[in-house]
Amino acid sequence: MHPLQNVPIPFDLQDNDRDRRGLPIPFVVYRDLEGVPHFTINNVAAVDEVLSRGLCGLCGKPLEPDQIWFVGGPGSAFLVDGMYIDPFMHEGCGRYAVQVCPFFAARSYSKRIEARTLKMEDVHEDAVIHDNQMKPSRPIFFAFTRTTGFSLIDPQDGSGQQYILPDRPWKEVEFWDNGTAITQAQAEKIAQDNRLRTSSLKWWPV
Ligand SMILES: [Zn+2]
Repeated sequence: MHPLQNVPIPFDLQDNDRDRRGLPIPFVVYRDLEGVPHFTINNVAAVDEVLSRGLCGLCGKPLEPDQIWFVGGPGSAFLVDGMYIDPFMHEGCGRYAVQVCPFFAARSYSKRIEARTLKMEDVHEDAVIHDNQMKPSRPIFFAFTRTTGFSLIDPQDGSGQQYILPDRPWKEVEFWDNGTAITQAQAEKIAQDNRLRTSSLKWWPV
């Protein structure tokens, strides 16, 4: 049995289709004509629906008021203008995501091979997809954070892709590494080891 399958799938994700490993396929992930999910690629129509209707990017169901959770690296979470490409989510869906990381939470950089295996003849004729492979490496740890609001930013790069700017300071902050919760002190140590000064991070919790 794959070890990731030992993490219980939360209620909201139980209706999602599963991949060949039995793991739920996030709502916003692009699937080709064969139904194969490509975890590095967002289905732009699904992302737009999630952003405009305030849905969870993982299960596709409505968020609860003031319960807007994000999973991302320290740059997205704590830099003064840190933003996200992947949408917000429920607490339960996000907590599942950070535990099965990197397969799920870290999909935007960990599974590049899947994008390379996407054959263009399997792509829907009218599909608009974004292949988010610009991140050079995985985050040094994950921040799992809650806010109560956000803005959408159009980078004016012609892609049509919107960036999500959460309202900060964060209401809640958790730190995760390799599928395990770590303390803020442990996260700070990892940051120091990677020459990232937390004093330069505007939204780092004090
Ligand atoms: Zn959800």
